Amino acid sequence: MSNLPSEPEFEQAYKELASTLENSSLFQKNPEYKKALEVAAIPERVIQFRVTWEDDKGQCQVNRGYRVQYNSVLGPYKGGLRFHPTVNLSILKFLGFEQIFKNALTGLNMGGGKGGADFDPKGKSDNEIRKFCVAFMRELSKHIGAFTDVPAGDIGVSPREIGWMFGTYRNEKNKWEGVLTGKGGSWGGSLIRPEATGYGLVYYVQHMIQYASGGKESFEGKKVAISGSGNVAQYAALKVMELGGTVVSLSDSKGCLIATDEKGFNEDVVNTIAQLKVERKALTELNDEKYKYIEGARPWTHVGKIDVALPSATQNEVSEDEAKALIDAGCKFIAEGSNMGCTQEAIDVFEAARKEKKGEAIWYAPGKAANAGGVAVSGLEMAQNSARLSWTSEEVDEKLKGIMEACFKNCLETAKEYIEPAEGEFPSLVGGANIAGFRKVAAAMKDQGDWW
Ligand code: NDP
Repeated sequence: MSNLPSEPEFEQAYKELASTLENSSLFQKNPEYKKALEVAAIPERVIQFRVTWEDDKGQCQVNRGYRVQYNSVLGPYKGGLRFHPTVNLSILKFLGFEQIFKNALTGLNMGGGKGGADFDPKGKSDNEIRKFCVAFMRELSKHIGAFTDVPAGDIGVSPREIGWMFGTYRNEKNKWEGVLTGKGGSWGGSLIRPEATGYGLVYYVQHMIQYASGGKESFEGKKVAISGSGNVAQYAALKVMELGGTVVSLSDSKGCLIATDEKGFNEDVVNTIAQLKVERKALTELNDEKYKYIEGARPWTHVGKIDVALPSATQNEVSEDEAKALIDAGCKFIAEGSNMGCTQEAIDVFEAARKEKKGEAIWYAPGKAANAGGVAVSGLEMAQNSARLSWTSEEVDEKLKGIMEACFKNCLETAKEYIEPAEGEFPSLVGGANIAGFRKVAAAMKDQGDWW
């Protein structure tokens, strides 16, 4: 029995990584890397703090704030801030742990971290959210900096909250520096950062489709189920449509929205949903008979025949049964826009199907590779801030495409090297992503004396 508190989400993320390393030839080739895993599993630093703020009635409110500074071997800690009532140390440790290896996969120099608070922006006024952001950053500002730790947004933290936190940091420190990413375009933000995670996800899947079809297929004509309706889901949906695919579902924390005709979602309805989300309203407010709202449900068992599934809401949003249902519905490509979108049981279903149905792809890509586009463009935002210049949308989008292609190839080639696929079998992208990310971090940690 361990004397540590139970951290179910962190333990799940750790086991997922550790089991793929153990089931590969990595530890046979480099047995010393077992020590690296033991060391890397413990965050370099965890900061926990009290956030007191005043609500609109003048009452004192209190929340818990956190920053997990997990690993800085490749660069300043980098990873989002999540404001959601479910936030606790287990969730932030799982997110921070995954972030280390994701950031390594971008090829940019960024360490891994994650933070946030158990603050619920829902039902709060703009004034209350601003006051919370100010109070949160007053403490966090003591622990971060452009060369130390550069947070970004995540669930519940949009560019508006980034703005309020950036202003607080600037005031507290009397210093303008690129301490947060996802900033506004006119004051240091990068073009394409809002779009980057969703676009990057679709670029990654495009490579999966092309590889699996020998270059014959693309998103053109594909039916795509998406969950979530926030930042990642919205831009993934828009990019799928631009590439000729049909988006058949979206969802939020209360239920899912399924398109009832063949045309699926269009750009106008996604823009309307984006506005609803800015106003912190639920999808139930969308009064359009072309879309059926199913309360309390996730989309996966309601979408009918599909080719691609992109979970893009939150962790553990695809269960074992839903994974089986997706395969039965003809789904060939599953890629996580969300972090740890699939349960371990769901991943096992997809990985077993990949092995069984050789040549007929059922191919799963984990979030740490498929959703790395967001943090990659955050890295590009840091580079632009340091150089005091701005790149055009086209320049950033081209770099994002290059990074997602390199990430896909890295996962693929690493999987081939360490988990030899059977004849006709597609390489394991989850294995490849974990080994490629871990190997890079472990080697750098050794060079810097973090383990020996
Ligand atoms: P948003 O806050 O913009 O949107 C989150 C969406 O997920 C909303 O539709 C929300 O519903 C839904 N959701 C949140 N919690 C739950 C829950 N417990 N059950 C069901 N639905 C839920 O966040 P993002 O789009 O930024 O993030 C989505 C996922 O992508 C997260 O896992 C995040 O960690 C990951 N990610 C985000 C990146 C980014 O750049 N933003 C980068 C890489 C990964 P509702 O509107 O009802 O709250």
